[in-house]
Amino acid sequence: MRPTMRVHAIIVAAGSGIRAGGGVPKQYRAVAGQPLLRHAAQRLLRHPAITSVSVVINPGCRALYNDAVAGLALPEPVAGGATRQDSVAAGLEALVAHPPDIVLVHDAARAFVPDTVIDALVAAFADPAVDGACPALPQIDSLRRGQNGRFSGSVDRDNLWRVQTPQAFRYPALLAAHRAAAPGQTDEVAIALAAGLTVAITPGDERAFKVTEPADFAKAETMTTYSSRAASGFDVHKFGPGDHVWLCGVRVAHDHGLIGHSDADAGLHALTDALLGTIAAGDIGDHFPPSDERWRGAASDQFLAHAAHLVRERGGIIDHVDVTLICERPKVGPHRDAMRARIAEILGLAIDRVSVKATTTEKLGFTGRQEGIAAQAMASVRLAETA
Ligand code: MG
Repeated sequence: MRPTMRVHAIIVAAGSGIRAGGGVPKQYRAVAGQPLLRHAAQRLLRHPAITSVSVVINPGCRALYNDAVAGLALPEPVAGGATRQDSVAAGLEALVAHPPDIVLVHDAARAFVPDTVIDALVAAFADPAVDGACPALPQIDSLRRGQNGRFSGSVDRDNLWRVQTPQAFRYPALLAAHRAAAPGQTDEVAIALAAGLTVAITPGDERAFKVTEPADFAKAETMTTYSSRAASGFDVHKFGPGDHVWLCGVRVAHDHGLIGHSDADAGLHALTDALLGTIAAGDIGDHFPPSDERWRGAASDQFLAHAAHLVRERGGIIDHVDVTLICERPKVGPHRDAMRARIAEILGLAIDRVSVKATTTEKLGFTGRQEGIAAQAMASVRLAETA
């Protein structure tokens, strides 16, 4: 493949069928904590050969779409039509102003297509005689004709293929074929063959199965693996005038306060950084800049809740968090269980997954001199990765 080749992927997600269950069109139903469409889009966006991705939707599902793809690098979605063929045509026409070299047309329901399938598709275009390429699997089971509960004949399974998506084409060729196509075509291969185009067969993969029936969602869940992530956070705040401090979301009476732009809760700040670290999402200052007046005196529970939201948006499960407060005073022990309960509440965790510990530094250093409080935290998270 020439490195300059521009490869665009269109995801067709305009269907409104709810027979797969869950009460929403299946592309918006969650698998391993994330909508099927998000899995599909993430997979294509991360593939190194794919330059850009767009999605064709039913405009009536715009709110579901916005939630499903929040934070992903996608352009404004394209409004689909009454049939799949119309929706693909709309997606192709939307590219006319900036035509790619190659276009992939993919069904959102085949959300778990492995990278190797896309590698083979793109590689097929090294042959200049090829107009398109489609992943397919050989038909292994015998095929028989039948009606009224009785077999009536056989079908030769040789040379029969089970066709998958994405289906890839040179963009100008597919656009012309689509514009000329009769209605009622089931996929791009059918349209391309009708137009006399040459379509290569590339290796399909069982993991690119189409999620259709309720049982398919259970199958998709079993394909999910989790990678564990652990990250730490650290924070310090200085004592100043006052009669209380906030620590781990609990107000603790003290003969000093803590100085900070927000409520100076070093425990929650350290834990927020630890959670952000599990998804490599920067630090608390990136998300809540001290220069922003909105965060003056702000309660730090919202920082922690935001970090937890980002982790869950990535398909993450928070397994455990652990905070160590480092100070001579105030005494943490009497407040420890209240702190654990408050953190558990903010994160939506069972309290046995929340640990709060305290230590002194034997009167050494700034904490020993009671100039300020330090906190360190650790978070363990599992991120879902569907194979
Ligand atoms: Mg801080």
